[in-house]
Amino acid sequence: MSAGFDGRPVVPASSRLRPLGVGEVEITGGFWGDRQKVNSQATIAHCHDWMERLGWVGNFRAAVEGRLPQDRRGVVFTDSDVYKMMEAAAWETGRSGSTDADDRFTALTEVIAPVQEDDGYLNTVFGRPGQPARYSDLEWGHELYCYGHMLQAAVARARTGKADLFLEVAKRAADHVCDAFGKGGIERVGGHPEIELGLVELARLTGEERYLQQAALFIDRRGHQTLADIHWGRSYFQDDVPVRDQTAFTGHAVRALYLAAAAVDVAIETGDEALLEAIIGQWDLTVARRTYLTGGMGSHHDGEKFGEDFVLPPDRAYSETCAGIASVMLSWRLLLATGESRFADLVERTLFNVVATSPAPDGRAFFYANPLHQRVPGVVPDPDFVSNRAASSLREPWFAVSCCPTNVARTFASLAAYLATSDGNGLQIHQYADSRVSTQLDDGRRVGVEVMTGYPHNGIVTIAVSETDAGPWALTLRVPGWANRAWLSDRGERRRVDSGVAVVERSFKVGDTIELELPMGPRWTVPDPRIDAIRNTVAVERGPLVLCVESVDLPGGVNVDKVRIDPDSDLTESGGMVTAGGRLMEFDDRPWPYPESSGSAADGDDVMLPLVPYHDWAKRGPSTMRVWVPTV
Ligand SMILES: [Zn+2]
Repeated sequence: MSAGFDGRPVVPASSRLRPLGVGEVEITGGFWGDRQKVNSQATIAHCHDWMERLGWVGNFRAAVEGRLPQDRRGVVFTDSDVYKMMEAAAWETGRSGSTDADDRFTALTEVIAPVQEDDGYLNTVFGRPGQPARYSDLEWGHELYCYGHMLQAAVARARTGKADLFLEVAKRAADHVCDAFGKGGIERVGGHPEIELGLVELARLTGEERYLQQAALFIDRRGHQTLADIHWGRSYFQDDVPVRDQTAFTGHAVRALYLAAAAVDVAIETGDEALLEAIIGQWDLTVARRTYLTGGMGSHHDGEKFGEDFVLPPDRAYSETCAGIASVMLSWRLLLATGESRFADLVERTLFNVVATSPAPDGRAFFYANPLHQRVPGVVPDPDFVSNRAASSLREPWFAVSCCPTNVARTFASLAAYLATSDGNGLQIHQYADSRVSTQLDDGRRVGVEVMTGYPHNGIVTIAVSETDAGPWALTLRVPGWANRAWLSDRGERRRVDSGVAVVERSFKVGDTIELELPMGPRWTVPDPRIDAIRNTVAVERGPLVLCVESVDLPGGVNVDKVRIDPDSDLTESGGMVTAGGRLMEFDDRPWPYPESSGSAADGDDVMLPLVPYHDWAKRGPSTMRVWVPTV
């Protein structure tokens, strides 16, 4: 087991479930193990290299050398991407003991720490002669947002055993924020929520109440129109309605979800049940009406925001990778608070179908937006090209607004901390991956298991007890919401288990095995008819994976617009490839696409349609793709 200590991104003072750290859970291989390896060996360095190359790290050097503002490079919040990459490096150091990641963190700390001003302020865009005044643009300036990521990086570093200079920098910055934005100070909020998450976690780490109080102040202040009215309205930054009065997530999706995650943190630490219930209600309505099949959130490119209920167009889906990650962060906090498996269900759906979709197999290119229908094949990007944020037909090496790659990096590096929890009574396994878990229960007893599985390719999960004493404890296994015919085998007895959780409570011996069988046959999925954009279509899912039709698998590579699927056909599977019956249509090109009647159905050839995991799309070159396929 790595020297990860109790490294966890979220450590509530009290919760239904106790999160385990990267020193207690280790991913040993398989689907997520492969991705962690690529993240460690390629993505972290890739992010660092690009930020050096584009001068984003150099901005800190320029600050020390008095070359700002003239030598400032990149958009206003690039400091935050350096911090997010540092957070990734901290988790990687804790997870694997990587000296490369450790060295990167130390080197960046040496570059950044001298930029901090005497009162704790630290930012490369504001406050110097020739730059705008500090906090003169709370709507767009992102100073507080950048601090939030700085604080999270410092917490990750400290929780993986290295409470070094960067923690001191972060504490001074947090003190400064409390001085500047406390009662009697600037009684406003930042345009992009994130500082709240950093402040609560730093309070949890250090025991400093003031940081928690400041986070609670920011949560309570939002929604009282302290930010300017903008083109998209104040709902863009959730400043139109107080957090606890909102009914569903609205506005810019990443902002809304970071804010909600922080509101859960504040609610837990302050015992604010009403605030927690409000966020759960907003989560419920958003999942029921504003979430893609992939778990993706935020349907509008314009304003990067949530649509109204049932506005979920597949071709214009924004579904930013960062919104997927923010959704995982929120659902994880709600799972810890409540113990309810539906939150882990959404974590799983989003990890496999949004977060895993973003990075290329080599870890050096990323999707920013994650549409469910690609109409036009993309153009292979130049590896030296810096894309705009959402040109998403093929994964791009880097973006002018590059929040997503560093977010993927920090999530993969800390992923083990999202698999399992403990409570007074035993262990809970929420996500299935080849892994080892070893921890201490609340009463001091040590327990451990090894999880062995080919998931998500097959549905057999074998759990071997590796540490236990003679007394009884409970092993709780999540049975995903989609798994309506699961089986559990223990001591020669095989029983049917329903969606939710399956509990095995008894005295264990080292070497005992429990087997969970999840039904991995492909299945049809139909949309709520109120989602107009996908009416008369169906999708196919297999286990936790959303599948798609991709043109590279079609005869002659024809555009997926020609595809119709037969929902009465049998879904078959062979060698990991799912096929369905369907037809390739021929359409007449008309001068005007709205005839008086549709006439007879267009002709077409019957074909067997191959379906592949959505997260693998566009890995074989430019293609067209669709998840929701019109029926014959
Ligand atoms: Zn992003």
